[in-house]
Amino acid sequence: MIDFSLTDEQKELQKLAKEFAAKEIRPHAEEHDKHGKFPMEIAKKAFEVGLMNLNIPQEYNGTGLKVLDEVIIAEELSWGCSGISTAFAVNHLATAPVIISGNEEQKKKYLDMMTKELTFASYAVTEPQAGSDVAGIQSTAKLIGNEYILNGSKQWITGASVAKWFYVLAKTDPSKGHKGMSAFIVDADTPGIKVGKKEDMMGQRASATHAVTFEEVKVPKANLLGQEGDGFKIAMKAFDHTRPGIASNAIGVARAAMEHAIEYSKTRTSFGVPIAMHQGINFIISDMACEIEASRLLAWQAAWAIDNKIRNTKLAAFAKRFAADTVMKVTTDAVQVFGGYGYSNEYPVAKLMRDAKIFQIYEGTSQVQRLIIAKEIFLR
Ligand SMILES: Cc1cc2nc3c(=O)[nH]c(=O)nc-3n(C[C@H](O)[C@H](O)[C@H](O)COP(=O)(O)OP(=O)(O)OC[C@H]3O[C@@H](n4cnc5c(N)ncnc54)[C@H](O)[C@@H]3O)c2cc1C
Repeated sequence: MIDFSLTDEQKELQKLAKEFAAKEIRPHAEEHDKHGKFPMEIAKKAFEVGLMNLNIPQEYNGTGLKVLDEVIIAEELSWGCSGISTAFAVNHLATAPVIISGNEEQKKKYLDMMTKELTFASYAVTEPQAGSDVAGIQSTAKLIGNEYILNGSKQWITGASVAKWFYVLAKTDPSKGHKGMSAFIVDADTPGIKVGKKEDMMGQRASATHAVTFEEVKVPKANLLGQEGDGFKIAMKAFDHTRPGIASNAIGVARAAMEHAIEYSKTRTSFGVPIAMHQGINFIISDMACEIEASRLLAWQAAWAIDNKIRNTKLAAFAKRFAADTVMKVTTDAVQVFGGYGYSNEYPVAKLMRDAKIFQIYEGTSQVQRLIIAKEIFLR
C-alpha cells in the first residue's frame, strides 16, 4: 500500500521545525549571509529544542528518528536559510559513517558526545586535487605500533573550525586504489592538525568551510572505522543516508524562492495587470510548483527506502540530482520573476540563487549523480 500522509509525530516535527525556521533562522539569514557569520547562537537553540543530530540512535541518547523524519525537518530548516541549516546539519554527514560502521566503543564515545552538549563534527574527504574522484585522494595513514600516522591535505571541509572531531579518509595501501582507503575518527585537538582560513563563498555564507592539513598526526588504532580498506565503501554508504536530506535542503530553498515569486507576482503590475496574470509568468510558477513536488517525492522515496533497509543508492542519487538541478532552476526563475529587483541584494531571491548553486556541487556534483545513476542502470 502507498501512503503519502504524515503521521501525527511527523506533523509535530514538521511544525516544530517550521516554527523554529520562521522565528530563529529566517530573521537572521540576511545578517549571517552578509557578514559570513557562523550561526553559533542559533545552533545552541536548535540543539536545545532537539533539531540537531537527528540521525543519532536512541542507544546513544539521540532522537532515534528515521531518515524520512530528518528530510521533513531538513526542508523546513533550509526554508529558513540553507547556509545556517548546513552549519549544523553537517553533523549528519560526519556521524553517518560512525553510525553505519563504528564499533560499540566508537559509537559510545563519539555519538554520545554529540548529544551531551552542543558539539560539531566534520566530514573530511575532499582534497585539493581530488573531489569527484574520491579514489584519487593522496592522504596516507601508516600503521606504526598502535597508532596510524596521518599525513595529507583536505579542502572544502564544512564546519572544520568548530569541529571536535573529523571523519577522515586516507590511503593505508596506495597500491590498491579505492580498496586501499581507510576511514578514521580523528580528534580535532590532536597535534599536527591545522585548519585554514574560512573560505569566502558565493552562497551558504553562514556555513564555515575550510582547508585542513594533517601533518604526522597520531591516530589511535582504535579509531579505525571498520577494517583497513573499508574507507571508500563506508564513505559512499554514508551518502545513501545523507543525500535524501541534502535533496530536502534544496527543496526548502526552492520553496522559499517560489513563495517569494508568487507574492511578488501578485503585487507587481505591468501592462495594467499584476504580472501573475501574464501566462508567461504563471507558467514559470506552475513549473516551479511541479518540480518542487517531484523533488519532494523523490527525496521522501529515497528516505523511505533506506529506513526500510532497501538499497537506495540510485534513489538517493535521483533525489539529490533532481532537487539540486530544480533549486538552481527555481531560484534563477524567481530572480526572473522579480525582474531588475531580483538582481538586487535588497530582495531575498538573489541570496537564494547564490545559496542554490552549491547543491549541484557538494555531496557529489550533479554530473557525479548522473554517473552513479548510469552505473546503477548498466552495471547492476
Ligand atoms: C561549500 C562547500 C562545502 C563542502 N563541504 C565538504 C565537506 O564538508 N567535506 C568534504 O569532504 N568535501 C566538501 N566539499 C567538497 C565537494 O564535495 C567537492 O567540491 C565536490 O565533490 C566536487 O569536487 P571538486 O571540487 O574537486 O571538483 P572536480 O571533481 O574537480 O570536478 C570539476 C567539474 O568536473 C566534473 N566532473 C568531474 N569528474 C567527472 C566525470 N567523471 N564525468 C563528468 N563530469 C565530471 C564535476 O561534476 C565538476 O563539474 C565542499 C565543497 C564546497 C564548495
